[in-house]
Amino acid sequence: MYNMSGDDMIHIIGAGLAGSEAAYYLANQGFQVKLYEMRPDKMTPAHQTGNFAELVCSNSLRSNDPHNAVGMLKKEMMMFDSLVMQAALHSEVPAGSSLAVDRHLFSTYIESKIHQHPMIEVVREEVKTIHLNELTVIAAGPLASDALSKDIQEKFHIDHLHFFDAIAPIIEASSIDMNVCYLKSRYDKGEAAYINCPMDEETYHAFYNAIIQSKKVEIKDFENNVFEGCMPFEVMAERGKETLLFGPMKPVGLEKDGKRFHAVVQLRQDDAAKTMYNIVGFQTHLTWDEQKKVIQMIPGLEKANILRYGVMHRNTYIESPKIINQSFQSKAHPNIFFAGQISGVEGYVESAASGLNAAIQISQLLKNNKLNPLPKVTMMGAMAAYVSTPNPSFVPMNANLGLLPELGFKHKKKMRKEMYYERSMEALKQYIGEI
Ligand SMILES: Cc1cc2nc3c(=O)[nH]c(=O)nc-3n(C[C@H](O)[C@H](O)[C@H](O)COP(=O)(O)OP(=O)(O)OC[C@H]3O[C@@H](n4cnc5c(N)ncnc54)[C@H](O)[C@@H]3O)c2cc1C
Repeated sequence: MYNMSGDDMIHIIGAGLAGSEAAYYLANQGFQVKLYEMRPDKMTPAHQTGNFAELVCSNSLRSNDPHNAVGMLKKEMMMFDSLVMQAALHSEVPAGSSLAVDRHLFSTYIESKIHQHPMIEVVREEVKTIHLNELTVIAAGPLASDALSKDIQEKFHIDHLHFFDAIAPIIEASSIDMNVCYLKSRYDKGEAAYINCPMDEETYHAFYNAIIQSKKVEIKDFENNVFEGCMPFEVMAERGKETLLFGPMKPVGLEKDGKRFHAVVQLRQDDAAKTMYNIVGFQTHLTWDEQKKVIQMIPGLEKANILRYGVMHRNTYIESPKIINQSFQSKAHPNIFFAGQISGVEGYVESAASGLNAAIQISQLLKNNKLNPLPKVTMMGAMAAYVSTPNPSFVPMNANLGLLPELGFKHKKKMRKEMYYERSMEALKQYIGEI
């Protein structure tokens, strides 16, 4: 049997999305877990609270459609009784065809489940050193503390890669002028959950020019290291006058009484009480004064009270294909597993899913003395394959259907997504039946 050295305890560093998910799964499998969290004593540049699994930016866990990659991923996680999915369903707020949550209720649910679990001991301290003889999951996230990052770099002989991400501002709902704005989800999918701020062509041009002329917060190396998936809107604007119209300000599907606007800014509900809304796709690194100026140029937001300004942050991940195998286990140090964003996945749901996957693998190792990678036809398995397959231009990746193996038989193209989903569910049922 796998010989658990150290203190017969699984150590998990970071009670974020991946760490909380991993702790809960392992504890439910009967293993003793020690979960370390440095907040609130030591905060990261993006977290605002000491809560577990805090959502640092958007409150959306993206599509609910099981025929979409992240929708499929969520369904897979539910088959393993995912804590993050339980919390999401418990704290859901309307968001059309997406799953958005009240971030406070979401974290509170997760934290209470962890605190109540008899197999989990929570230790509120910063871990600065990894003990290679102890079974450990490093789930310290994209904002892992400096001391821990340095230790990882040294022990795994890696140049820590990093890039930059940005957060979108949050607006107080009562300061939004609903005589100008209207409720609607794009293409009327799901409930009319978004507040839309319509813009005519003249207003758009004035708004665009203001963005281009705005002052940004200077960040060294920033321009070379922006992650495409979280591009600040001012950087997008610099790419061309029309770029925003095909991105976060796309008016298509948001017509009102049959009228198409030149551009539309969308606001998404951020809390269950509907007191806060975030500006969809408006992650930014403009200075706060400039943010206020350009946001208040948006029709309906002239008197917007900005509850949280957008900011830009470092984002850290290991060179996963060199460091880990398909079970998120370090190749050089088999007691050490990586999970979450630091392991090379991208996104809230993906981070939680990788925590779950790493935990399943540890449980398999401890019970059967061998790892048992998830089938590659599942989104969880495909993501694990992605982060562990050699790739000279490796970057963290969101769940996407392109990661899945082809179906390998003739089929109608429009049925493909459905078939991917059915194939995944079948494979997982079999996998779960066998473990
Ligand atoms: C600024 C920013 C914005 C983002 N916005 C989005 C978004 O809108 N949508 C999306 O899907 N994804 C977003 N992401 C990406 C990613 O999904 C989140 O960062 C997600 O929280 C990652 O989950 P995680 O579990 O890997 O890390 P986290 O949720 O960050 O959890 C890591 C935990 O480890 C703790 N920790 C760190 N170092 C130590 C230590 N030495 N000792 C003890 N504890 C430690 C931290 O305090 C934290 O609680 C964003 C990332 C960043 C950086």
